[in-house]
Amino acid sequence: MSRQYPIETYRNIGIIAHIDAGKTTTTERILFYTGKTYRIGSVDEGTTVTDWMAQERERGITIVSAAVSAEWKGHQINVIDTPGHIDFTAEVQRSLRVLDGGLVVFDATQGVEPQSETVWRQADRYSVPRICFINKMDRIGASYEDAIDSIRTLLGANPIAMQLPIGSEASFRGVVDLMSMQAIYWDDDLGREMRIAAIPEDLKDLAQEMRDQMVERAAEMDDDLTVKFLEGEEISVDELKAALRGAVIRNQATLVFCGSSLRNKGVQPLLDAVVDYLPSPLDVPAVKGVNPNTDAEEERTPSDEEPMSALVFKIVTDPYVGRLAYLRVYSGVLRQGEMVYNPVKGRKERVGRLIRMYADRREDITEVYAGDIAAILGLKDTFTGDTLTDAQKQIVLESISFPEPVIQVA
Ligand code: GDP
Repeated sequence: MSRQYPIETYRNIGIIAHIDAGKTTTTERILFYTGKTYRIGSVDEGTTVTDWMAQERERGITIVSAAVSAEWKGHQINVIDTPGHIDFTAEVQRSLRVLDGGLVVFDATQGVEPQSETVWRQADRYSVPRICFINKMDRIGASYEDAIDSIRTLLGANPIAMQLPIGSEASFRGVVDLMSMQAIYWDDDLGREMRIAAIPEDLKDLAQEMRDQMVERAAEMDDDLTVKFLEGEEISVDELKAALRGAVIRNQATLVFCGSSLRNKGVQPLLDAVVDYLPSPLDVPAVKGVNPNTDAEEERTPSDEEPMSALVFKIVTDPYVGRLAYLRVYSGVLRQGEMVYNPVKGRKERVGRLIRMYADRREDITEVYAGDIAAILGLKDTFTGDTLTDAQKQIVLESISFPEPVIQVA
């Protein structure tokens, strides 16, 4: 067996939002559009997106679990669940640690709210590169512009508009893609294919102005483009995308998209953006840990050739299969049937079944490669926060912190 996808095509992402912004709906739509069972909906045939999801729920299939894998245009997207109650617990910190990029969902009628600020600061602490989705563009009072302004002023971030909404509130029906300078429409709320068309006359000037701004700001953040821009040379879409991707990965800017996940508008471009602008495991700093035998700090680079190291970020008891340890393999290859060492517990364990979760199925796999996320079934002595490592070249990825003593006041 070898890798199905090269490591640069992996996107380990978290959908980050405070409660009610639409994280669940957006996640469901993402899994729907990336799903193998994707069919174009039709009311007459009773196969609309919503119907499909209702059926999935009836069949008891886990739509959102600790981590779900999805495929989009030759990329593997692993969506890691980030708890809705964002606080400074170990669980939240761990989930932010195992992901490489974030998709932050805002409510278009509210912009940045106090709770979204908390979420944003958490991601700042872990330097998580982010793109933003202004959701609920169909609601009364929705404003893409105001939401972007609040990202700039209240979060102190550097947002760059990548789209321009077409229609507003109940008549919101599409977006201008400022990268390709085309209009994208969804003609109904059923999640059908999008329709590409020319930019409407009345939006042409504004779209051009916004694109010019986007190019100028991308150029400011990229040395090669700065020169080209100043000399008035043509900047290609690929160059522009690369410059923006670099800026996002260095946490210099965030890119803003919009839509309505409930009305199935804007989700496919958002998936394209995840692939185009969020980092792969190769784009983020190598993981650090401690050699438990020497106490020296060590690093593992995301390569299949390195000694295996993995962090267990969540234990879930799945009613159908049993105790699943979700983990991220940072380096090397985790193989079914092999022994791995848990330096935190000082125990060796055998890797029984390896499972990849999709929205609508579980798949048995035989290897998990560097940069990927999957679950091991049947580990007895391994808990959340534990490292699994090559027994010869050991590393502990997460320092063991002891809880504060609880002082009882009589
Ligand atoms: P979460 O708490 O962030 O997971 O948010 P949910 O996905 O559960 O959404 C919260 C509420 O907002 C639900 O009633 C959704 O139906 C609604 N909602 C989500 N997305 C949209 C949208 O695009 N437009 C409108 N009008 N409502 C939405």
